[in-house]
Amino acid sequence: MPKTKKVGPTRGLGVRYGSTVRKRYIKVITELKKPHKCPNCGFVRVHRESVGVWKCGKCNFTFAGGAYTPVTKLGVVARRAAKGLAPEEATKAAAKAASVEPATEEETE
Ligand SMILES: [Zn+2]
Repeated sequence: MPKTKKVGPTRGLGVRYGSTVRKRYIKVITELKKPHKCPNCGFVRVHRESVGVWKCGKCNFTFAGGAYTPVTKLGVVARRAAKGLAPEEATKAAAKAASVEPATEEETE
């Protein structure tokens, strides 16, 4: 019977920062460490290079995305807005996306 408790990515944090924050951290970090699909070649080989910078290990395609996920809801809205949706509609959609995901990260695009 092992005496150590499995705490996943929060190992090293110990009992600090509170359980809610640690749970949130686990959610974000597991999403971050998961292999993501490349929008260029389709292979699931995309890893984060830096905050908001994502790189495909297969085709070396580097692109901007969210801080913790390659694609964010807000980013999708922004892209749609950039493609030429009515500005007020885009703003409404962005506000909706922001309210759905209040802890969303800064979009780097
Ligand atoms: Zn690729």
